[in-house]
Amino acid sequence: MSFQKLGLSSELLKAISEQGYTTPTPVQQQAIPHILAGKDVLAGAQTGTGKTAGFTLPLLQRLMENHDPHQKPRRIRALILVPTRELAAQVLESIQTYGKHLPLTAEVIVGGASINMQIRQLHRGCDIVVATTGRLCDHMHERQINLSSVEMLVLDEADRMLDMGFLPDIKRIMGNLPKQRQSLLFSATYSASIKALASQLLQNPVAVEVAKPNITSENVSELVYGIAKENKRALLSYLIGSNNWQQVLVFVRTKHGADRLEKQLTTDGIRSAALHGDKTQGARTKALDFFKNGKVSVLVATDIAARGLDIDDLPHVVNYDLPQVPEDYIHRIGRTGRAGSSGAAISLVSPEEAHLLLEIEKLLKRHLPQVADTGYEPVSLKVIDAPKKAAPNKTTGKKDFRHSKPAEKKEYVTRNQAPGSKPKAQGSRARSR
Ligand code: AMP
Repeated sequence: MSFQKLGLSSELLKAISEQGYTTPTPVQQQAIPHILAGKDVLAGAQTGTGKTAGFTLPLLQRLMENHDPHQKPRRIRALILVPTRELAAQVLESIQTYGKHLPLTAEVIVGGASINMQIRQLHRGCDIVVATTGRLCDHMHERQINLSSVEMLVLDEADRMLDMGFLPDIKRIMGNLPKQRQSLLFSATYSASIKALASQLLQNPVAVEVAKPNITSENVSELVYGIAKENKRALLSYLIGSNNWQQVLVFVRTKHGADRLEKQLTTDGIRSAALHGDKTQGARTKALDFFKNGKVSVLVATDIAARGLDIDDLPHVVNYDLPQVPEDYIHRIGRTGRAGSSGAAISLVSPEEAHLLLEIEKLLKRHLPQVADTGYEPVSLKVIDAPKKAAPNKTTGKKDFRHSKPAEKKEYVTRNQAPGSKPKAQGSRARSR
């Protein structure tokens, strides 16, 4: 299947070929014709599948169908809602890339940037707004934005928006939009709340399913290191240094943890930057730019800040802390192995996190291969208690946390084995720490 067959205009085809794309990805093949036909679409597409072009290309084409070049100021005809500022910047970049031969204009409305500047931009007018919900609601509250001309609404990474508690904002925004519009909802996973949102937002939607929710990309090989909490940092430095990893995205649970690990890695001589929600927008952009252009080799990030990052050919993702929500494991490792390239995802798991690993494996319906010799004191990743799932004691009715769940059989590989490769012959332990 070629892009020409999808019915896209010559201006868009030109931009696509300038990007070097020859074949539409599955989500593009499936979604683009429906969107061009004016249908509402509910798309289950995980990150890295080419979903951004999947909605951006037909959206640009639809806007061109009734484009009035004399309209001044320009009215907002398309609204794209995203969970994070970084994703907003990326979607804007896609609009600019694919729309470079079209006369359409777009603005980003996100928190952390000057509200007055945004007001001036809004007064100048634009065809497309890409926004995070909080700042958009601020502008609505101040009556600085007019959404009455919106013909197309896109919710990108809708599951993440709900996880982040943005449902009330989304509802407020929906209340300000014309009823007559085309709506598209993209989500990596389908929870009951996503289904409920879809039923309120979409009219007779066409369902597009390109990757079953809750599966990870085949291009990513995964490894688990069972390691005591206090040894994680040294192991991480060792893995980066000994394997000469040049670009590693490291996930941690907290903002404070991100700053601390960044400092520690820098002390270990590894060029690092941190990315989290407490950083100013300027600092976030700078950290990401440094990481993309190789000025730092490690980006230590929290889930929220890392959401939607698209870094070409990112080779390594490390879960320094396991995510609290198992679905986040899929989002995190989706940062690598994108658009056909291969990647490795490594999880450093302490005994305290064993229950989180179990939850992830349950979600994936498979075991993650575990390194047998980490070079450190072996630790057990047996789940010794699972407080939330504990069954009531039949006689007392009280929850009994004493029962330990036996660890299931694991696949073991050796420490220096690159994920997905054959085990290397191991010499003596690599170095003492
Ligand atoms: P996304 O899932 O939208 O974040 O896209 C993931 C990556 O795939 C981005 O780097 C896109 O530039 C790239 N991409 C999108 N469409 C194609 C395509 N048809 N062929 C090759 N790469 C693509």
